[in-house]
Parts: sequence; C-alpha cells; structure tokens
Amino acid sequence: MDRKRHLIAAVCTIASISPQARFSYDASWGFYAHRLINRLAVFTLPEQMIEFYKVNIDYITDHAVDPDKRRYAVKAEAMRHYIDLDQWIHSETDDLPRDFASALLQRSKFYLSIDGEALSLFRDSIQIALDPDTLWLSDSVLLMVCPARNYWTLMEFRICLYENLMPEYDPASWSVPVTRLGGPFASLTTHGVLVIDDRFCPHGILPYHLERCHRQLVHAFRAEDPVRILRLSAELGHYLGDAHVPLHTSKNYNGQLTGQDGIHAFWESRIPELFAADSFDYFVGPAYFLDDIRAAIWKIIFESHCGVEDILQTERTLRSVTPEDQQYCFEPRGGSLTMQACRNYAAAFNARLNGQVEQRMRSCILATGCFWMSAWVEAGQPDLLRLYDKKTSLGDTTKSTPPLAPSWQWLRQHE
Ligand SMILES: [Zn+2]
Repeated sequence: MDRKRHLIAAVCTIASISPQARFSYDASWGFYAHRLINRLAVFTLPEQMIEFYKVNIDYITDHAVDPDKRRYAVKAEAMRHYIDLDQWIHSETDDLPRDFASALLQRSKFYLSIDGEALSLFRDSIQIALDPDTLWLSDSVLLMVCPARNYWTLMEFRICLYENLMPEYDPASWSVPVTRLGGPFASLTTHGVLVIDDRFCPHGILPYHLERCHRQLVHAFRAEDPVRILRLSAELGHYLGDAHVPLHTSKNYNGQLTGQDGIHAFWESRIPELFAADSFDYFVGPAYFLDDIRAAIWKIIFESHCGVEDILQTERTLRSVTPEDQQYCFEPRGGSLTMQACRNYAAAFNARLNGQVEQRMRSCILATGCFWMSAWVEAGQPDLLRLYDKKTSLGDTTKSTPPLAPSWQWLRQHE
C-alpha cells in the first residue's frame, strides 16, 4: 500500500477482516443517504398511509440511522447489516436456506451438556453429510431424557428450534437452558445447557433480519401502535438501504481482499453526498404490494451482489488511468481536513458505474415504500388517521432534524 492509500486507510479507519469487526469503520450508505431514502420513500405511499407518514416525516428521517448508531452498544447488531453471500454461494452451488433456522442448522455445531458433564457434540456439518436425518445423543443424555432410543430425528430438533428457540433467538448469546428445547428436555430437573457454536451469523444475517423486521412491523400495524410503527418503519428502511448496497453482500466488503481499501465509503457515502441531491432522479412511482416478502428480500440481495464485481473492476481501471495526485484530496469536514476522493475523480467513478449508485438508491426508495405498504396491507389496512391522537406519546417526533447537507433545502422545496 502506498503512502496515499495509507492516508485513505487512516481516514476510513479500516477495520480488520474479522466479520464481527467489519462495521467499525463505516456508516453504511452514509447517514445522508439513509435519511434521504427514508424521507423520499414516504412519497411513494398510497393515500391511506401518506398523511400519517408525512406528519411524522422528521422522525422517519432522523431515525433512519438508529441501527448504525447502536452497533457499538448491542453485540448482535453488526451482523444484521450485511451478508457475505460469497461465503456460502458459489457459481455452481446455491444450497443456502432462505429461512434462518434451517441456515443455522446447516452451518453450525450444536453441543449439549447435562448436569455439568463435558459438552458433547450432537450435530455438525460432517454428520449432516453422513446421516442427514438423525441427531445422535450421548448415553448419559439419553439415560435422562429419552431412554427408549438413542437418537433424535432432525425433524424433532428442527421443530424444537423453530418453536422454542427462534422466537427469542439472540446470535450474541447462543447458550440456552436445555429445558427451553421442550420435548423430552422440558421436564429435566438437572442443570443442562445447549450451546450453539454459531458458524453462520458472523458472516451476516441481513436478509433474515429484514424478514424479522417486516413481521414485527405487521404486528405493530395490527396493534395500531404508532410508536412501534414509526420506529420499525424507520429501521426497516435502514436495513433495506444496506441490502441495496452491493458491498454489503460480499466478504470483500471494503476492497480489502483486492487492495482497494476504502472503496466501501467511496461508493456509498462519497458519491451520494456529492451527487444525490442535484443529479439523481427520484421519481420512482408509487409503492405496490409485495405478496412474497422473502422472495422480494432475496431478489434485492442477489441484485446487489451482481454489482460487486462491477464496482471493484471500475475502481481498479479508473485508478490505473488517473494520476495519483488527482485521486484523493484534502477537504474540510466537521471542522477538520480529511482525505476524500477528489470531486472529479468521484464524478468519473460515478459516470463509469453507469448510474449504478443512483439506480440502487431509486430501487431502495421504492422498495422501502413497498415494504411499509405491504406490512400495512398484511395487517388488514388499519385506519392510520385514528393514530394521530396517539402520536403525542412519541415525544421526539417534533425534534428538529439535525442539519445534513445544504441540499436538504432542495428536498424541502420539493415536498
Ligand atoms: Zn447499516
């Protein structure tokens, strides 16, 4: 890495390649773009929804970045913002389960310990290959829980995972009392734990978490709870924003595997900050109902992933034909000078990407409106006008929007 790239690395505070550490350096889409996407998504909504969202548009805008802000406070948060699709899916194989419990079952190891005895492995990927339908239990475990046989079927364990563990799943703390497994374990009086050696979640759970957020938003609409509706709408918009960023779907999320460190912020922060307000077209049309949320989520993820190689190749080519002193410049930012991609260099990158950043932003604005609307329809289309009276409980909806960029004035004029 030459001196200039060292400087860039310093500005971006490049993370180590550990998946857990990856989001210590960026703000994903940049705070500016996340807020912009949520704000503009409001205007895609149908008549029965738009008034409620417009009244609360500052809340929806401000809270678009909450998930990024709590990355440092909540251990399980970081993995919700990405998925390393290339860790699991290669051109010739795609056996990645689209439901979370099955993905976890397929990629993790499960251990049991009863009454203080050493942990015993009772499921791992090797066993899946040899015997896909059965879980083998140690003699001592069997003696206590199901003496009539020496195995549990995979189906029994899968049901147990779905019904007893997934509702309270916490990828940050996968050690649970065996009584929560239910079945023969429910009545155990001795101490026991199930430990899941999670080989899956550290590579990201973004599409699975999106599905969970959508479900929660449906429940919030059903409960006609305006606080939860707005909080979950804002956060769903955030995760959809991440899902539309190609580099959130790759192990090479910051170009660190190809000597392109810093490309993440270049694509998702620098380009929108420079060009989103004045050059991008935001007429995306009205939101529509999505009858298969899971399929819609994975379509977004795969579309994003298809853009990864384009981004890397384009930056590589552009760098090779641009004099080094015209690539990165010092610019004032937040009261100090920081190294940024030079304006002309960023413009050239954006042009060579052939509208990719704008297309992903437009697609995300529409998708956010569609997900909000679909949750509302699934909940039975509650009358949101009735919720106006309750909104005072939100407290901070009247809080002024923190200043973003001058281009916000443009947005406000066009509302
Ligand atoms: Zn994020």
